[in-house]
Amino acid sequence: MKVLIVEDQQRLGQFLERGLKECAYTAKWVGTCKDALDALAESPYDIIVLDLGLPDGDGIELLRRWRANGFNEPVLILSARDSVEDRIKGLDVGADDYLPKPFSFEELLARVRSLVRRQSTVKQVVLEHRGIRVDLLSHTVQLNGRPVDLTSREYALLEIFMQNPGRILTRTLISEKIWASNYDVDTNLLDVYMSRLRAKLETSPLRPLFKTVRGVGYQLL
Ligand code: CA
Repeated sequence: MKVLIVEDQQRLGQFLERGLKECAYTAKWVGTCKDALDALAESPYDIIVLDLGLPDGDGIELLRRWRANGFNEPVLILSARDSVEDRIKGLDVGADDYLPKPFSFEELLARVRSLVRRQSTVKQVVLEHRGIRVDLLSHTVQLNGRPVDLTSREYALLEIFMQNPGRILTRTLISEKIWASNYDVDTNLLDVYMSRLRAKLETSPLRPLFKTVRGVGYQLL
């Protein structure tokens, strides 16, 4: 799950980015309308956490623009403006939920989970393939009924493969989904993560779980 955080207060933005990463989300924090537009143009996001008062514009306008351009993923508005009018305005232009500041991180997490769950009525919440079971809500993984301990990056990587079993995923596509920007990725890093996933999930060398497609990417068999 990839989350874009649009928040101009540096401390809050960084705090949310770090907190979400620790909970196995892929998170990117930006502080202006311009950077938010650029981030969304550069790669897809599953959910947006949006502050309303931004230095170069209004979050409501940003949201209106995204919705007009067909961005359908959930948006959670985050703002000190907790008047009823602002709340209604936000929901009117297509926000899915509204969280007044100040809020606790636990509450934000709960709202994000609830939006993901609502979105998941059309998508699956549990992915299963070859004895691996990934719960998209609790971010937990089991192998043949036993819990597997994955780091947040390993989890994010596995989630993409489990959503696309049998499909060859290119290095670019994987990087784009796992790392918030595909420019800051050392490609060797992906190979390191892949070997860790193999070590944790492959039950027998005779039955490989992933196929390396040289020069292209990887495939979950
Ligand atoms: Ca603000």
